[in-house]
Amino acid sequence: MTITCADCGATQVIPDLPRGATAECHRCDRLLARHTRAGGDMALACAAAISILLPFAVFLPLLDSTIKSIVYGESRLVSSVIVIYQEVWFPFAFGFLFFAFLFPMLRASLQLAVLGSLRFRWKIPQRGRVFRWSEELRIWSMPDVVLIAGVAAYFRAGISADVGLRAGAWCYIAVTVLSILGDRTLDRRGVWNAILPDVDRLPARHAAACDVCEMTVLNRRPGDHCPRCGARLDRNIQLQFIPALAAVAAAIPLCLPAYSASIMVNDQLTGVLEHTVFGTVQLLADRGFWQGGIVVLVAGVAIPIVELIGLLWLLLRVRFPRKRGLVVRTRLYRVLKRLIRWPMVIPFIAAIAAPIIDFRGIDDIVAGPGATPLFFVIALIMLAVRLFEPRLMWQTAGEAT
Ligand SMILES: [Zn+2]
Ligand SMILES: [Zn+2]
Repeated sequence: MTITCADCGATQVIPDLPRGATAECHRCDRLLARHTRAGGDMALACAAAISILLPFAVFLPLLDSTIKSIVYGESRLVSSVIVIYQEVWFPFAFGFLFFAFLFPMLRASLQLAVLGSLRFRWKIPQRGRVFRWSEELRIWSMPDVVLIAGVAAYFRAGISADVGLRAGAWCYIAVTVLSILGDRTLDRRGVWNAILPDVDRLPARHAAACDVCEMTVLNRRPGDHCPRCGARLDRNIQLQFIPALAAVAAAIPLCLPAYSASIMVNDQLTGVLEHTVFGTVQLLADRGFWQGGIVVLVAGVAIPIVELIGLLWLLLRVRFPRKRGLVVRTRLYRVLKRLIRWPMVIPFIAAIAAPIIDFRGIDDIVAGPGATPLFFVIALIMLAVRLFEPRLMWQTAGEAT
C-alpha cells in the first residue's frame, strides 16, 4: 500500500505486513504501520469496558482520610472539579474535568462506534471522521497522567493523615490499564484500510496526500477533503507556524509565577505552609517519599524546560533551514509530543490532594496561586507541540517529497 509520511511528506510503498511486524518511514523513521495480533478487537473490548467503568471511577468515593480517627474525610474525582472551581480559577477546573473524564469518555465512545461498526458490520456514516476525532483525542485524554498524579497526591496526603483507597480509585486504575492496553494493541493502519483501502501503486506524478490518515489520493486536488477521514489534503501548514511560536512566547514569561508562587497551600494548626513546585519536591524527599519527589522534579521541571528549548530550536530551524539533522529534529519532535502530557501531573496533584485533606482549622490543603499559571504554561506548550508541523522543516529545507 502507498503511504505518505505525515512527519516528512515522503510517499512510499510498503508491502503487506505479517502479524507482529512494523513498517517505518524510509526517511524519518516514523512508525507507519504496525500489524498487531489483536487487530482492533482488543481495543474494542477495552473501549467498551472503559465506557462502563469510567463513570464509576469519577462518581464513586476515591480516597478516604482520617486524622487519628477523630476527623474523617472522603473525596471523589468529581469533587476535585468543584474544589478547584471554588478555590482557584474555573478554566483549570474545566481542564481537569475534560482531561480526566470527558475526553477519555468521548474517545472510548468514538472508538466503540468505529471499531464496533467494522467488527459487526454496522452501518454508520462518516466512520473515517469519527476515527480521526478519536485519534486526535489521544493526547488530550490523560487517565495515565491522572493516575500518577493520584499516586503522588496519595503520598502527599499521607504526610498529613491516614489515607485509604476506595472503589473509585480501583475503577480509575482499571480504566488506565485498559486505555494503555487498547492503545498498544490497536492496528491503526488496519482500521484505516478497513474504512477505505490505500492505493496499491506509487503514483507516477505528485499526488495530493492527507497528513492525518496518510492516504495518497490520486483523483483529488490539494485543498479538497480527504475521501477517508475528511481532513484537508495538502493543508497549508505554514499558517500554523506563527500560532505555534506565539504559544511558546506566551508560555515563557508565565514560568515566573508558575515556579515562584506556591502550587499548594497547607493550612495547619501550627501555621500555614506554602509549597512551590521545588518546595513540594523537598517536602516529599524530607518525609522519605523520594520517588514522589523525583516524579515531581522530572515531570514538573525537567520536561517543561526540555519542551521549551526543544520547540524553540525546531521553530528556529523552520525559519533558518538546514538539511543536516532533519531526521534527528523530526525524532526530537516525536519525543516532545510523547512527553508533553506529563507535566500536567503537577497541577493534578494539587487538584486531587486538595479535597482529601480538607479539615478546616486542623489541616487543610488548597490549590495555591501558582497552580493556575503552571496549568497555563503546560497547556500552551501542549498547544504549541500540537500546532508545530515537522513537515515544515523538511519543506523549508527543500526536501518536500
Ligand atoms: Zn517520514
Ligand atoms: Zn485522511
